[in-house]
Amino acid sequence: IEGEMRRALPVVETLMSGGYEAVFVGGCVRDTWMGRKLKDIDIATSATPEQVMALFPHHIPTGLAHGTITVMLGGVAYEVTTYRKESAYEQFRRPSEVEFVTDLEADLLRRDFTINAMALRADGTLVDPFGGAADLAQGILRCVGEADARFQEDALRMVRAVRFAAEFQLRIALGTWRALRRHAHLLTHVAMERVGAEADKMMGGSDPKRAAVLFARSGLLEHTKQALPASVRDAAHRLDAAELLLSGHSDGTRGTEHTELQWLLLSISIGMPPNETENLFDALRFSTKRTSSLAAVMRMWERMKGITADGQASGTSAEADMLYRQWIEAILEEGMPAASLLIEALKAIDHKRAVPSKTSWLPAGQLEQWMKELPVTNLRDLAVKGSDLMRELRKPSGPWLGNLLKQLVHDAAYRKVENNQAALISRGIDYMRERESET
Ligand code: ATP
Ligand code: MG
Repeated sequence: IEGEMRRALPVVETLMSGGYEAVFVGGCVRDTWMGRKLKDIDIATSATPEQVMALFPHHIPTGLAHGTITVMLGGVAYEVTTYRKESAYEQFRRPSEVEFVTDLEADLLRRDFTINAMALRADGTLVDPFGGAADLAQGILRCVGEADARFQEDALRMVRAVRFAAEFQLRIALGTWRALRRHAHLLTHVAMERVGAEADKMMGGSDPKRAAVLFARSGLLEHTKQALPASVRDAAHRLDAAELLLSGHSDGTRGTEHTELQWLLLSISIGMPPNETENLFDALRFSTKRTSSLAAVMRMWERMKGITADGQASGTSAEADMLYRQWIEAILEEGMPAASLLIEALKAIDHKRAVPSKTSWLPAGQLEQWMKELPVTNLRDLAVKGSDLMRELRKPSGPWLGNLLKQLVHDAAYRKVENNQAALISRGIDYMRERESET
């Protein structure tokens, strides 16, 4: 036992000296076997949850009903789960009640795929009754036991199959794939929240492109519970590797924005209108914050995608001017975070040399430069505050103030006025005079 697992060894050893069996299981064993970095460390034991709690003073009864206790050791949380089997599956979902058992193999038998059904003992021996290590060596993803039965028990496993196949570059075993195609329709019984969480892991994973293609080809996309936006449903039939802008396989580390970027590239490849983007991420139960920031980028894209940018060569053409204006308006409307994300997406599109259909090529570098040169992008950047204007203009607060501030941001962004207090106030006074003489 080496690496991160070594630090968890005391947990396993404490259980063992209490007279119980304890092993590492699931993802951490699989990832160790492949020489990958571990995400979290799961431990399985023959001890009941009460017995686990008695052995570890620092515990949190995270999932008591399912037999899971979180044990804290050296500031790290480890999930310790009692050996269990799942029998009473209902409605193609995982059971609400479980039955504890004392036999490790019975516990491994309830797990989804052979590569996820391996255990590692404290002495370093691998317990692998279903040939997970051999499947990994051959690059195969296979259900534990009868694939048909496993997908009927819990339909989410089909989505997980796609995720693991993409993540670890595995082929799906023929029997498993056929069962998946046969039972794809059962996905309608699974809560969108669970599907959304898996889909998010796919987009943040090592091969979002393959994940998306498999998700569509398997029939899973068509059978996702909640009515997905029309553009997504239509895409089920033409989601083709060739037109997907998503990243293909990469081993390297992925930045924090990687996942958001992939969702955007997916939305752009499909040709999703901004309001549908919002519906999709709502349906997948993303936070409102995430949903609205993704929708903001899609609105920017919608605004920009039709503008021809031939201005590149001459730099002064009417088209370049148009591009500049639309871009500044879009930034003022949707904000800098959205603008930065859109630029990342445009760079990715450039990199792929694949301009999505019905859109024009947009010069990411030029847009980025314009964005960076902007003296102000919002109220906070403005060198004058609302209170300054109220004082100087001797007017109480009212709708005029918001409008004026907005106008000043606009003017400062276009460099019609310098972003300093005196200049802004005098421009503000001019505006108010004009308005008063109009009325
Ligand atoms: P990840 O790297 O994404 O965390 P993981 O294999 O650890 O992958 P988890 O969802 O954390 O996946 O689940 C831990 C283990 O629990 C899995 O390895 C598998 O053995 C088992 N498991 C999880 N979900 C299911 C399921 N729906 N059906 C059967 N077994 C499951
Ligand atoms: Mg895990």
